[in-house]
Amino acid sequence: MIETNKNLKDLNTFMVPAVARYFASATNNDSLYRILASNEWSESEKHFVLGGGSNILFINDYDGFVLKNEISGIDIVSEDNDSITVRVGAGVSWHDFVMWSVKHNYWGIENLAYIPGTVGAAPVQNIGAYGVEAASVISSVEYVLLPDAEKKVLFNNECNFDYRNSIFKKNPEKYIITYVYITLQKKGKAMLNYGRVAESLTEKGIKNPTPQDIATIIIDIRKSKLPKVGEVGMAGSFFKNPIISKKQLSEIQEKFPQVKYFDLENDMVKIPAGWILDELGYRGFTSGNVGNYKNHALIVTHNGNGTGVEVYKHVKNIIKKVHEVFSIDLEPEVNIVI
Ligand SMILES: Cc1cc2nc3c(=O)[nH]c(=O)nc-3n(C[C@H](O)[C@H](O)[C@H](O)COP(=O)(O)OP(=O)(O)OC[C@H]3O[C@@H](n4cnc5c(N)ncnc54)[C@H](O)[C@@H]3O)c2cc1C
Repeated sequence: MIETNKNLKDLNTFMVPAVARYFASATNNDSLYRILASNEWSESEKHFVLGGGSNILFINDYDGFVLKNEISGIDIVSEDNDSITVRVGAGVSWHDFVMWSVKHNYWGIENLAYIPGTVGAAPVQNIGAYGVEAASVISSVEYVLLPDAEKKVLFNNECNFDYRNSIFKKNPEKYIITYVYITLQKKGKAMLNYGRVAESLTEKGIKNPTPQDIATIIIDIRKSKLPKVGEVGMAGSFFKNPIISKKQLSEIQEKFPQVKYFDLENDMVKIPAGWILDELGYRGFTSGNVGNYKNHALIVTHNGNGTGVEVYKHVKNIIKKVHEVFSIDLEPEVNIVI
């Protein structure tokens, strides 16, 4: 069913109001193709694929077609002694899929537990947490290429995966991801170098953790640090961690000797955007309906009573301030939908 003038306030975790001219949900390939063949789809000048709405900011109403991807299903495609490959519907909740994986004792995505959103959105920004990225397990992505609605597949090495980036993120009007093929390992190696994961395992006396043990710890850590979806409007970390040259780092170190950074290849470093915002006093900041989360300055918040424009103005002020003080141009991780 195609709805007109649908308010998307409950369908985006920023909880900003935005009315879509047309809206429909696809639950499988057939219903997707019915939508793509509709007059409403072809008469719309723009189209937006919506998953769980946890990485977007609507600034205005959407004068086009919003297609919500609800394609379901987890099907085994191949399996041997070492690994298993599954085809997962783009509308499956990512966290539910992680729970399915750890329940079966498969390795590969336990560190990505409790990330909101859908499986179909995971390749878009190559979701990552605790030292693991979705790109490390995605073997291929099945999608519909617009505007001709051709069914196609891209293999991992064709997806241009990068830090919070991919071919899909760069071309949002071209791809409707329908299924993601994910390869999980039966004998894995725990990745424990990030955050407090190793420490928590020691505290619990766990020497040989299972994927379930790791996921449980990560869920607990994330629950203690991040707001719950629905508790406050937000879309997780708003900005990417900026990557700058060592030369620029030494200029920053003159003013801020305590600057935090991680070494990268080619004389580049990554600075935690959260550290920058902490230095500028944004942690717990509020102004009208918007602000920054009390435990994590990188999370831009909205109290549910304002608009996308207000959030966006706040974001632009942050970008300006960071540029003035650090000469760094922060880039949003969240997709701004215009
Ligand atoms: C509390 C919180 C914590 C978070 N933590 C993390 C984290 O640790 N790491 C991380 O990487 N992200 C994190 N995020 C961001 C978010 O969870 C991920 O980016 C997630 O993949 C978004 O999924 P979604 O289904 O909600 O996508 P949406 O917000 O609905 O869409 C995001 C983008 O993907 C596109 N898209 C969605 N589905 C499809 C599809 N089927 N085909 C084509 N394009 C599609 C949309 O058009 C849009 O451009 C967090 C968010 C929140 C709210």
